[in-house]
Amino acid sequence: MTCPFLKETQVRYCQTSAVRKVIPLAQAGRADEKCSSADHASCPVYRTQPQEQPASGPCPYLGESLMQYCGAAPVAKLIPYSESLLSRCGNDSFRYCQLYLAMAHPNVDAEEVDGTPLPGWLKYSANHMWLDVTDDGVCHAGIDAFLSRALGKIERIAYVWLKGRHRPTAVLTVEGVDLEVVFPNPFLLTNCNLYLRADPSHLTSQPYTGGWLFEGVLEPGALANLLEGAGARAWMEREQRRINEFLQQQHSLPTAADGGQFVAGLARVLERDQMLALFHEFFSPYASGKREP
Ligand code: SF4
Repeated sequence: MTCPFLKETQVRYCQTSAVRKVIPLAQAGRADEKCSSADHASCPVYRTQPQEQPASGPCPYLGESLMQYCGAAPVAKLIPYSESLLSRCGNDSFRYCQLYLAMAHPNVDAEEVDGTPLPGWLKYSANHMWLDVTDDGVCHAGIDAFLSRALGKIERIAYVWLKGRHRPTAVLTVEGVDLEVVFPNPFLLTNCNLYLRADPSHLTSQPYTGGWLFEGVLEPGALANLLEGAGARAWMEREQRRINEFLQQQHSLPTAADGGQFVAGLARVLERDQMLALFHEFFSPYASGKREP
């Protein structure tokens, strides 16, 4: 599937110019455009070329091709056909484009488990990260709504690696404490969501769309031990129970829940040591190995 904002247009371009200058077909033939008529004889670039016949009709060096452009961008940037297929515009990855998200406001109808959104099309690691894989092997990863609820307002984000084959890792700063979130399986990291460095609030408000963290290419083993479908929903139910029990075991916590959802923004009501213990138990790389059958 391609982005609904990806448009096509026929363009003409000069085949001899060192810098390819394109002319959208809508502008061809305008009074100030010489390339389509015998007026091309006055073009200084044409004159530098060998001329076998007197100039008549359109310039022989005028080429024509089909290009694509982003209809959502304030200034249309033309993209050759071949490049759009490589970029996120020509495949399902458009769902993570900031421009697309800002213009389309897509409605992510996520299923919920005890009030926690849990989209059924994603795969989840036991330390509360998600992975979305498109048909062409491009993948995106981020934190799930359970983890983003526990963290609340995130002050800062830094990426440990921006590219390469790694376990993708980001450091989130909450209440002055640096917390490392690690996707447990390595893949070929090609991009990180750098917009979040300017505005980390999308991590909390849109954890499954604008708050994505990592983009990459799937590699063997990247899907190991991930949960999906009914297995993911059952796991999330267990996690809800487990975190409530964990909070109730912490004496004098105003956050100890009564069976419902835990209080949002736990980092702001827990002591630093309690928060670190909770993070270690549920969200650390260690927690990713704690998957119950
Ligand atoms: S830049 Fe973004 S909004 Fe524009 S066509 Fe590509 S994916 Fe769509």
